[in-house]
Amino acid sequence: MTPLLRILAFFVIVSTACAGPAASQASLDIELRARELAAGEGVRIDITSTVPLESLSCSFLGEQVFMIRTGDARSWSGWSMVDLDRKAGSTVVEARGVATDGATVSGTRAVRIAPRDFPQEHLKVAPKYVEPPKAIRERIAREKARLAVIYARREPWAPPAEPFVRPVPGKPTSIFGSRRVFNGKPRAPHSGLDLRAATGTPVLCSGPGRVVLAEELYYSGNLVIVDHGGGLFTLYAHLSRIDVAEGEDIRAGEQVGLSGATGRVTGPHLHWGAKIDNRPFDPRSLLDPVLFGDRN
Ligand SMILES: [Zn+2]
Repeated sequence: MTPLLRILAFFVIVSTACAGPAASQASLDIELRARELAAGEGVRIDITSTVPLESLSCSFLGEQVFMIRTGDARSWSGWSMVDLDRKAGSTVVEARGVATDGATVSGTRAVRIAPRDFPQEHLKVAPKYVEPPKAIRERIAREKARLAVIYARREPWAPPAEPFVRPVPGKPTSIFGSRRVFNGKPRAPHSGLDLRAATGTPVLCSGPGRVVLAEELYYSGNLVIVDHGGGLFTLYAHLSRIDVAEGEDIRAGEQVGLSGATGRVTGPHLHWGAKIDNRPFDPRSLLDPVLFGDRN
């Protein structure tokens, strides 16, 4: 160790020791796992405590992260994301735990959100999907409210240990976050990833979980939603056939149905989506091993 590093190391030890109240040496280590901290990315937050915790709260970008115990009461994990409209800049992740002896343990971590741009896309669909007829608007509102209830669930299951799998082998035809213009009218950005898939292509569940919806909706067509626990969901839309039922437990790689062109589409493909707390993020985040497995 060079003399400078030795001085710095000494300074870090001293400053850490002086940071908290003298009565407690307890601390939290916060680790963020993501492909990149940028708009539209899924993020896994792992927190390790030096003492066992009764409870733990964590806030990231103004949202409370649902933290789940993953082993003994020192290891906790939760899912979060960077919203699509989040601008680049610095932010601080804050966590506060209550130890089994009642003491409070807290920790922070400063991180930087990287800049990211999304392309614009022009699409042509049947007019009824751009300006839905009056009679249909009530159905759309009802389905939206129902989906919001489903996506608000937070099952206290430990996060999957393995990276997710691609639901179909086809290449992306429209990426997550594209700014979309339907028949010349601007609409919400693309909330998922479109993958090339001829009608009838088997669609595989990308991670382990439970089927929480399996039916036809107006925009999504035949839709399957899988709950992976901790507020994390994936969804498979525009299917020509559904092969699973609500309430079924499902493994990664199991068939949820066949791809198709039902709902608001320009042609056959799979719309693959991912959500945390009813907020969409790029499902490709979940394919990256960096979000899974043991810490190094
Ligand atoms: Zn799509």
